[in-house]
Amino acid sequence: MILGEIGEDEKRVKFNVPIHCTECKRSVPGRIISGEEYSQTKAFEIELEHFKKNYLCGICRDKRRRK
Ligand SMILES: [Zn+2]
Repeated sequence: MILGEIGEDEKRVKFNVPIHCTECKRSVPGRIISGEEYSQTKAFEIELEHFKKNYLCGICRDKRRRK
């Protein structure tokens, strides 16, 4: 999962963040990739929070699609 835009020459940083599916509460190993500069910004924090709040695991996503 890539957050933000990463410049072509920008260094990438990877994070492992605990993410829980918002529907079944299953925990999912979250791998976030972002640009080094962007990852220091408030915008990144906000985007990450938003991502966590809306996260669905693959199973729940499939279920939702079928409805
Ligand atoms: Zn789920």
